[in-house]
Amino acid sequence: MDKEKLLQIYEKIEEYQKIIISVHKRPDGDCLGSAFGLKDIIKTTWPEKEVYAVGENVGYLSFLGPVDEIKDNVFKGALVISVDTASEDRIWDQRYSTGDMLIKIDHHIPVHNFGDIDYVDTGRPSCTLIIMDLFNLFNDKLKMSDIGAKALYTGTLTDTGRFKYTGVDGDTFRSVATLYDNGLSTKEVYSNLDVRTDQLTKYKGYFLQHYKKTENGVAYINILPRHVKKFKVSLGEASSLVNELGYFDDCPIWILFAEYEGKIVRARMRSKGPAIDKLANKYDGGGHRLACGANLGTWKRAKLLLKEADLLAKQYKEEL
Ligand code: AMP
Repeated sequence: MDKEKLLQIYEKIEEYQKIIISVHKRPDGDCLGSAFGLKDIIKTTWPEKEVYAVGENVGYLSFLGPVDEIKDNVFKGALVISVDTASEDRIWDQRYSTGDMLIKIDHHIPVHNFGDIDYVDTGRPSCTLIIMDLFNLFNDKLKMSDIGAKALYTGTLTDTGRFKYTGVDGDTFRSVATLYDNGLSTKEVYSNLDVRTDQLTKYKGYFLQHYKKTENGVAYINILPRHVKKFKVSLGEASSLVNELGYFDDCPIWILFAEYEGKIVRARMRSKGPAIDKLANKYDGGGHRLACGANLGTWKRAKLLLKEADLLAKQYKEEL
């Protein structure tokens, strides 16, 4: 934790009357959790400030609240805080640069730093935990309501795979304890996250019967629009099944390829051994050592990525 930089961020938040928190494209629980958590901390501490969380609403996370819709002129004179976003092109609201000052708060391996202040802590397994570092460091001044506690818990829960992934440590649980001290009730979180529609349940059956494995141990699946249409599920829902491919002893890497509108292919990549972030970087992607995304464009590039991932799996097994 960089206390000096967190102090700079605290001072900027204290200084600005208007603050806009910005999320990445196709935001996940950690991204919206960080945005709504930070918004709640600022609003609860300084009710007179104007604070907005801008971005995209996501159905399964709607229990955290709706994002704010704001006009272009609201950015004028505002402090903009980008959360959970490694590179500028992934920022959902491209008006971010029209604010007065930009702060980046993130936990991904940096692609580029773009803020006037960049706070990147790749040691934290979720961005929400960085928001909690800020909260805990200034706990004599900052306040939080149960709404913020719920958002921060949701982000932490989802990005740590329910406290399972590398990076979870004593600080994680100390921060979560703080959330309970600030009114966290987990019932609503689990009742919203632990649901699956009939359609997705049936699609899961299809998914489990159609994955493939490469020679050296990459489990993968190709999701085409016609597959998901048939089961009446969205690509987002279908992609949420990525970790169903993570149970194989002989596959240290697993990848879900999905074709989006305009025949754009994206990959969700996961590993329980070899680092995959450098490979993701080569394919217009990135993320963490063991969890990445990549924008491939075409199925041809997907094949190339799969080949390289297979080589990584092979090298990894040989080194064991
Ligand atoms: P996902 O598979 O979408 O859950 O992404 C896994 C991790 O990689 C997340 O932390 C994402 O923020 C990150 N990520 C996904 N896509 C990209 C991308 N195109 N460029 C950089 N990072 C990405």
